[in-house]
Amino acid sequence: MRIVVKVGTSTLAHPNGLLNIRRVEELCKVLSDLKNAGNDMILVSSGAIGMGVGKLHLNSRPRDVASKQAAAAVGQCELMYTYDKLFSEYNHTVAQLLITGSDFESKDRYDNFINTMNKLLEFSTLPIVNENDTVATEEIKVGDNDTLSAMVAVSIHADLLILLSDIDGLFTADPHKDRDATLISVVSEITDDIKKLAGDKGTTLGTGGMKTKIHAAEISTANGCDMIIANGSDPKILYDILDGKSVGTRFLKKRV
Ligand code: GLU
Repeated sequence: MRIVVKVGTSTLAHPNGLLNIRRVEELCKVLSDLKNAGNDMILVSSGAIGMGVGKLHLNSRPRDVASKQAAAAVGQCELMYTYDKLFSEYNHTVAQLLITGSDFESKDRYDNFINTMNKLLEFSTLPIVNENDTVATEEIKVGDNDTLSAMVAVSIHADLLILLSDIDGLFTADPHKDRDATLISVVSEITDDIKKLAGDKGTTLGTGGMKTKIHAAEISTANGCDMIIANGSDPKILYDILDGKSVGTRFLKKRV
């Protein structure tokens, strides 16, 4: 299988922006194992800005563009350094791909991205994608990695997109506010009612939220790729998913 896994900042970092070492170590171990089992694994990783915030000892995520871009430049190094180190322990070579929305709009750049990605997979590397936050301004950026990961999954014809989040999946109501909220395990069609279930608040360090996840599901399922939202607090959940267990919320691809 060709699997794209997206991890959000809230999964990778503590609330203060510093690396959640135990979580990231476990994530790299599980991804390495799934790759050893013969799967093509592609990671879409957030965390550049969040980790930059931690490393620069800023009190909170900055609001102005230049500071966010500077934080991303610092944090992206930290991220890739960490991934390179941890995946090396399992003999896997990582590759960094930083892209923006405009790269998907230009045919040449889109083709180049796909060619590079295919070559990296042929070389048996583990590609790690993030938005190129240091140059991506409002007009050209995708803006959130949920959407970006769906665009990546579709472009390389992935079999499955998994969004690891700080929530178990999509609920019938906000589980933080409503004790009767239940997890929806399968969504076969993204109706207006499903879209209404998504609030739009993310965490303080990340950018996403359920709204961007539903948007990602729309892109992914419309283009032949199932998508799962699952809780990334224990990355071993990826084993359950590949074992076919019902985990989180699965959005089924549209049948044609
Ligand atoms: N590209 C951003 C970062 O690495 C994250 C975007 C997102 O959280 O969706 O900080």
